[in-house]
Amino acid sequence: MIFERHRFRTDNYLYLLADGDDAALVDPADPEVALEVARRSGVHPKWILHTHAHPDHAGGSARLRAELGAEVVGHGGDAAWFPPDRDLAGVTELELGRLHVRVHASPGHTPGSVLLEWKGRLLTGDTLFWSGCGNCRNGGDPARLAATFRTVISGLDPRLEVHPGHDYAEANLRFVLAREPGNQAAAGRFAAVRAARAAGVEPEATELGEEVLVNPFLRAGGDTAFVELRRLRDAG
Ligand SMILES: [Zn+2]
Repeated sequence: MIFERHRFRTDNYLYLLADGDDAALVDPADPEVALEVARRSGVHPKWILHTHAHPDHAGGSARLRAELGAEVVGHGGDAAWFPPDRDLAGVTELELGRLHVRVHASPGHTPGSVLLEWKGRLLTGDTLFWSGCGNCRNGGDPARLAATFRTVISGLDPRLEVHPGHDYAEANLRFVLAREPGNQAAAGRFAAVRAARAAGVEPEATELGEEVLVNPFLRAGGDTAFVELRRLRDAG
């Protein structure tokens, strides 16, 4: 079994999931990097999964589909950016050979955003970041994102590891600590991500239960407060 989170460009993450001969790439926007990650792992991905279809997530998928003969799987709500071969609208359990992926529709950052759950990991795309959430400036809706946090994310297992589509942890934590200078969990996480960067290694994934302590969007206390927090984060 393979689970790999791989940084590309500055802060983007793509993912490789594999079980035996069944492998899937998630948000492989850079085809060269994605093919190298797959080659090093000795797998031939048959599926390309989109957490959502913004070009910095789905922009490599047409070429990868052609090169790999892979099927593109994503939510049709984002078809304006990339129409999927297989539509996740209404799908909660996805069977890709031996890969069994739970799908949680999570509209807000985009209409077709989904969270993908696989073996204790939650691939959150641009819906939930470490210590923050996605903005809604490119086809999104903060009120829908607030509802997703309230009705979808709050009901998930707190032990799930959070694996986002970007690493914005430092900038998000500066925002958190400016508002909550006494937040020890946030201060500890800030020190840990800075130490990882200084050492040239990837930050550890958080668990959802830890995110609740450091991430104000997970405890906004209502949709109106969530939307206001998102507006403040956009301004800062
Ligand atoms: Zn996005």
